[in-house]
Amino acid sequence: MRPDTPADHISEAERLLRTATQYPEDGEPLLLQAAAHLELAGDRERASTLYDRLLASAPERPFLVKALQAANLWEFGHEAEARALITGIRSAAPADPAPWEIVAETLEAHDELDASHECFTAAVTLLLPPGDEEVPYEVQPLLTGRHRVRRLLGHAHDGWDGLADRLHSAQSAIPLDELHDPKRLWALGSDNPAELRAEIARLRSELGSYRSALSRPFPVAVLHWPEPELTELLAAHPELESEYPTHAAHLTDIEASLRDLASTGTANLGIVTAAVPSYEAFAASEGSSPADADLLPQFTTTLAARGHAVAWPPHRTAPCWCGSGTGYRECHGGADF
Ligand SMILES: [Zn+2]
Ligand SMILES: [Zn+2]
Repeated sequence: MRPDTPADHISEAERLLRTATQYPEDGEPLLLQAAAHLELAGDRERASTLYDRLLASAPERPFLVKALQAANLWEFGHEAEARALITGIRSAAPADPAPWEIVAETLEAHDELDASHECFTAAVTLLLPPGDEEVPYEVQPLLTGRHRVRRLLGHAHDGWDGLADRLHSAQSAIPLDELHDPKRLWALGSDNPAELRAEIARLRSELGSYRSALSRPFPVAVLHWPEPELTELLAAHPELESEYPTHAAHLTDIEASLRDLASTGTANLGIVTAAVPSYEAFAASEGSSPADADLLPQFTTTLAARGHAVAWPPHRTAPCWCGSGTGYRECHGGADF
């Protein structure tokens, strides 16, 4: 359940700010997430104040905070300040992919396609050394964004575009070249209703990924109860049995939900592991009962916002996320799972 109206975003921001007071050690990701909700609610001024507050507190990811602040400032008329932040980030050349992506997309959003392209290319050059077979999950959006901007600029494919195409086709049914076809924009001016409907459906699916991009770099996470925790949870709160018929089914659900999200183009997925005492403490802090199943998604997003999500999928040969000790591909990552 993701909030949708401005009021939902404001109350979610307030909730995250309260949680940040409760867990000062996780303050940075919580404040960033709260600021993202304030942006989605249209309160860019207040988001900007939060970013400034973070920057004044020596954040762990200063370039990420600066990039988010730059994107936010440019949206409400502070272009010069935004540009100054962007220049600083680009010359610092951070090893963190997220600020690069945000800066390049900000330039793209303001029709500075050449500058955006330069920025994506600088980032990929820095973060994807030649000959590296495995593309880190966080670097993939840089390849995708670069592909998009190069299509808009009418550049021919290069090696990185080919790589972007291959990575995308492993995850989605719509080829990247179709998704990034500049002609799609012209079709919006078409008077053929079928063509227009098809175009709108496609734009919607892309808009979905823009929305999830707004919550970047926070993972969209799924909740995982290890078996002893689930047993304890259901013994204390049998009302939740309908949510979790068996532990095996719970594990299967987790993998299936994450694969569904991945196939619809949701990037940055993760798993958060739950424990009964922290869930009960969360319920108490929300003034609610742990037996209320509506709390589960809130608990999940709060843990993810506190930086407790582990990225999914694991590498093929890494141990499975479920804790079986078996390799992911032999366990829940198998084709026949
Ligand atoms: Zn392509
Ligand atoms: Zn497993």
